[in-house]
Amino acid sequence: MALVVHNTMSRRKEPFVPREEGKVAMYVCGPTVYNYIHVGNGRAYLVFDTIRRYLLYRGYQVLYVQNFTDVDDKIINRAREEGKTPEEVARFYEKAFLEDMRALRVMPPDVAPRATETIPRMLEMIQRLVDKGFAYAVDGDVYFSVEQFPGYGKLSGRSLEEMRAGERVEVDERKRHPMDFALWKSSREGEPAWDSPWGKGRPGWHIECSAMSLHFLGMGFDIHGGGQDLIFPHHENEIAQAEAYAGSEPFVRYWVHNGFVNISEEKMSKSLGNIILVREILKKYHADVVRLLALQTHYRSPIDFGPEALEDARRAYERLENCRFALDHFLARPAQRAAPARTQREVELSDSFFDYERRFEEAMDDDFNTARALAVIFELVKELNAYLGEQERFPTPAAPIIASLGRDLLLKLCRVLGLFLPGEEGGEGEAPGEVAREERKMSGEAMPSPELLVELLLEVRAMARDRKQYETADFIRSRLREMGIRVDDLREGQRWKFVGGSEEEPPA
Ligand SMILES: [Zn+2]
Repeated sequence: MALVVHNTMSRRKEPFVPREEGKVAMYVCGPTVYNYIHVGNGRAYLVFDTIRRYLLYRGYQVLYVQNFTDVDDKIINRAREEGKTPEEVARFYEKAFLEDMRALRVMPPDVAPRATETIPRMLEMIQRLVDKGFAYAVDGDVYFSVEQFPGYGKLSGRSLEEMRAGERVEVDERKRHPMDFALWKSSREGEPAWDSPWGKGRPGWHIECSAMSLHFLGMGFDIHGGGQDLIFPHHENEIAQAEAYAGSEPFVRYWVHNGFVNISEEKMSKSLGNIILVREILKKYHADVVRLLALQTHYRSPIDFGPEALEDARRAYERLENCRFALDHFLARPAQRAAPARTQREVELSDSFFDYERRFEEAMDDDFNTARALAVIFELVKELNAYLGEQERFPTPAAPIIASLGRDLLLKLCRVLGLFLPGEEGGEGEAPGEVAREERKMSGEAMPSPELLVELLLEVRAMARDRKQYETADFIRSRLREMGIRVDDLREGQRWKFVGGSEEEPPA
């Protein structure tokens, strides 16, 4: 089956045919850096990270661009509140965003332009829109004239009449139509400002994304992503600007939008006071639990990020972890005499592995149906657990081979979805020791887990450091590193992570 993608523009699933064979150019609206991001934003980045990972797994060369909106009213207001400059606010929250993304193990974009670094490109676009009669200047502001662009409303499916009737728009007599939106805003004293043919000012939010996406990806790029709340007016306006500017269409081949986030069945909103920050959740839950929760629902459906949903996801993740650990444990036993003859049961089981992979791909090919793909993974977990259970009673000679194949498949499928990633992408929120101690219940085993032994060594190292025996402390650290265990000294203490030799995260 070939990949099909739901396109907001046509409101249906379409076969995925990129602009250039084998290559996907995608743009996702990045954060406006005036605040820590909440799980609603977090979901969007997890969704598009998963889509990107799957496209890579499918063999596409993906160019992923995601901007920083670092000039905006919200940033200016925030700066006033905090007594800082807008630039200080923007840089602070940009850094916080990068930390959160790292903690969620979201792959960094290939290009991450800041709006403030693309101003010349925006000015060039605005000038051409004015020249072509799509925009007009009034007192240092420049507005896009929606009536001049016949396709206005095609993404959101609204007509100008409906918008005029439905929207509560403030009457601004300088605008020719109430839905006209600002491309350029004249700046007041103390606000960030750039020179322009219309006087000192700054760009409107919508033109930023049109300019940055066109600059890096060109007209007709493949996927433009964002949350459903961006369809109107942000993406509608992006289309109007880009297509009016280029004099051609489409601006984007596939518009992909993810659904809203609720908290215990209530809409997450400032007024309800139930906004949950990504970094708050990551203090309590492993990044993989958060990701698993995000993937258990189709990306276009609303999702609940309340405490109960998180607990459910944690339990589901435990099932995955336990299975993986049981396989590792099984494979770590002393090898028996090589005798690879498989039983009939084992022949059927190993044949079925191909089937799991095929069904996983079918699910993902169907508009990135991660919920169905996860169901396939959990079926595999059940099957592998059953097999390991049988081995306890009736060991067979080929079991290490079968278990190893099963483990490889489990890890492969999980990693396509961004779970169980190897290497150092984990960042914050990763605490293998904790997971190991609390979630891996290998009762009846006399040998303590390797995790406990690492912890013990780190205790010794801390004692050595307290006594200023730095040579000993460094020796322990470097020997652990040789074994693939990286130790970081943080303010809160030592943190360790198994990173293997030089194992890096594969793109797929
Ligand atoms: Zn945008």
